[in-house]
Amino acid sequence: MQPLYIHNTLTRKKELFKPINESHVGMYVCGPTLYSDVHIGNCRTFTSFDIMYRYLLHIGYKVRYVRNITDVGHLEDEVAGVGEDRIGKQARLKQLEPMEIVQRYAFGFREVMSLINNLPPSIEPTASGHIPEQIEMTQKIIEHGFAYEKDGNVYFDVEKFAKSNNYGVLSGRSLDDQLNNTRELDGQEEKKGRLDFALWKKAKPEHIMRWNSPWGVGFPGWHIECSAMSQKYLGETFDIHGGGMDLIPTHHTNEVAQSVGCCGNAPVNYWVHTNMLTLNGQKMSRSLGNVFLPVELFTGMKLAADSPSATPSQAKLDGKHPLFEKAYSPNVVRFFMMQTHYASTLDFSNEALQGSEKGFNRLMESYNTLDKLTPSATSSVDIKKIQEACYAAMNDDFNTPILLANLFECARIINTVNDKKETLNVADIDLLKKIYKDFIIDVLGLKREEQSGKSVEALNNVMNLVIDLRKKVKDNKDYATADEIRNRLQESGIQIKDGKEGTNWTIN
Ligand code: AMP
Ligand code: ZN
Repeated sequence: MQPLYIHNTLTRKKELFKPINESHVGMYVCGPTLYSDVHIGNCRTFTSFDIMYRYLLHIGYKVRYVRNITDVGHLEDEVAGVGEDRIGKQARLKQLEPMEIVQRYAFGFREVMSLINNLPPSIEPTASGHIPEQIEMTQKIIEHGFAYEKDGNVYFDVEKFAKSNNYGVLSGRSLDDQLNNTRELDGQEEKKGRLDFALWKKAKPEHIMRWNSPWGVGFPGWHIECSAMSQKYLGETFDIHGGGMDLIPTHHTNEVAQSVGCCGNAPVNYWVHTNMLTLNGQKMSRSLGNVFLPVELFTGMKLAADSPSATPSQAKLDGKHPLFEKAYSPNVVRFFMMQTHYASTLDFSNEALQGSEKGFNRLMESYNTLDKLTPSATSSVDIKKIQEACYAAMNDDFNTPILLANLFECARIINTVNDKKETLNVADIDLLKKIYKDFIIDVLGLKREEQSGKSVEALNNVMNLVIDLRKKVKDNKDYATADEIRNRLQESGIQIKDGKEGTNWTIN
């Protein structure tokens, strides 16, 4: 097997991937904060990691994939760590329990993940379900001298930590640079240093989500949940930690500091970060208000007004957005995402989606043609080489655009063989079928639409029958009927071509 290389944010290099345990991989990805619907930008990140997960499984690893759900502690200003809890605020505004808010959006999130064909993670832990673990970790950090308690709050002492550790190891930023670019905030006078962040916060009387702790009634900070849950399920040091690039400077930087502060060793061997989905070049984000929701874009996503995941606006939308001429299948949106490498930005537009739809259809039509290709005695093309190129693309930091280029080369070959301009023997046709199944279905997670395997087979059988009967008609010199069959097939979108080696057909 060719070796896998992954770009590691820690070293800013592509590195040979070597898991801690030879055959097992532990992977943690920061999941959504469920105070509203996930948008297409969030979907891009989760889809990128889904493809990595699928590829690791495909090449034979046993993977424990942990993707959390943030249901407490993510405040409105996540960089400064101030403001109201995002879920608490929605609960207050909608007069619901915080967990009702989370439940509602969790339904929608899982529905979207399943429509876009992301495999469920092995474990999906919630922050509120791991309060004791977060308290315990905070206690250890205090014991090790890297955190202090002040008036019911516990803060991580960044400057003290930075004396013996590289706080900016992930972002590549120096402490001075970070200090100079961080504002001093009112109401945070109890912090020793301006970069200090909360591990535990005292709950004001009106704060809904609250738990007892050694420091009084309060709630955990946002960053500690991922350190505590990744450690619980994957160990003190594990293989891969992922998330969007926007998480590097604060959330992930603080995760590293917490784990080192708690256990003395770096938590993660390979940090992997995905780039942003943009709209007119600007990051798609809920706070900027430029988000697209899957329900505004996807075909087949019909949320009834009383569906647990429906918000009043969703019930009206149903695959329609004024900026988009039509709805797209989740498959096409998934295909659109993998046309760009995960570490590059990807701009969302009508034209881009239209192009993706054409590309997706072309690839899938070649899949149908492949199913009915007639083998020859010998092959005039080297399929093994293309298979190797597919693996080489994925082994080069999960390069999906290069993989797609190779799959389109397969599509070109399939069409030329179908047109009798090249030949393939049975073994090579089988190898192409394996490449398509392995990469299109298993690794990229694309689904064959409308035509399920069974209906493809049935259509092939019917077409073989029609072609046989037409041959009989022709043998009886009834050319008028033979032409009528061809014309009527043409009207229903099926083109048949008579050649020296028989008749073949394609769907227009
Ligand atoms: P959040 O629910 O905002 O915490 O985000 C969940 C995940 O989605 C994080 O890994 C973010 O980095 C990622 N994310 C947020 N916005 C975008 C975007 N526009 N493009 C790609 N990923 C994003
Ligand atoms: Zn996280």
